[in-house]
Amino acid sequence: MTLPTQFQIKCPTCSRSDQTILVEDIYFGLIEKDQKVIARFSIQPDQIKPLLRDINPPTLERLPIWLIIPPDIFIGIIIGIILLLVVISGMQQGFDQKVAFPIVFLLVYFILRRYLNAKYIAKKKERDKEINQAKKAADRWSSLFICLHDMTVFSGHSDNYFPINEFQNRIYTDFHVDSTSD
Ligand SMILES: [Zn+2]
Repeated sequence: MTLPTQFQIKCPTCSRSDQTILVEDIYFGLIEKDQKVIARFSIQPDQIKPLLRDINPPTLERLPIWLIIPPDIFIGIIIGIILLLVVISGMQQGFDQKVAFPIVFLLVYFILRRYLNAKYIAKKKERDKEINQAKKAADRWSSLFICLHDMTVFSGHSDNYFPINEFQNRIYTDFHVDSTSD
């Protein structure tokens, strides 16, 4: 908690500092239902949910497993499982047909391999870019303050400020937050 240090931080809209708090602090205060924070800013129970939604921190969408691991490894795991099932399901009858399945599967994979790998690499690049953007957005998120008088969100480092309803757009777009210390 950094409550005491931020009383000096003035809201650029109303120039008051008694209701300003780091977005991060109010977010976690509300998530944890911290009574000190709730009482200090006289937050009503029906305000909590919309406020949390507005200042939600940036998240990364979870990808399905086959987009995270390289195709060779993924197919290797599948072949391994198929072979294991073939062995477990008994070798006495139809063993040849059962072994034929993973072989056909592998052949098909080798035909598609180049295409699947190219897709995987493209996806990975896109993912790395998204991770980078999410990191930047997270840095931005944790540098913002909010004034609860007028729901103005503002940067602790620069002159940027905007109404809370622009919050989600703003943390993903490149407004300048310079990191020079005061
Ligand atoms: Zn204000």
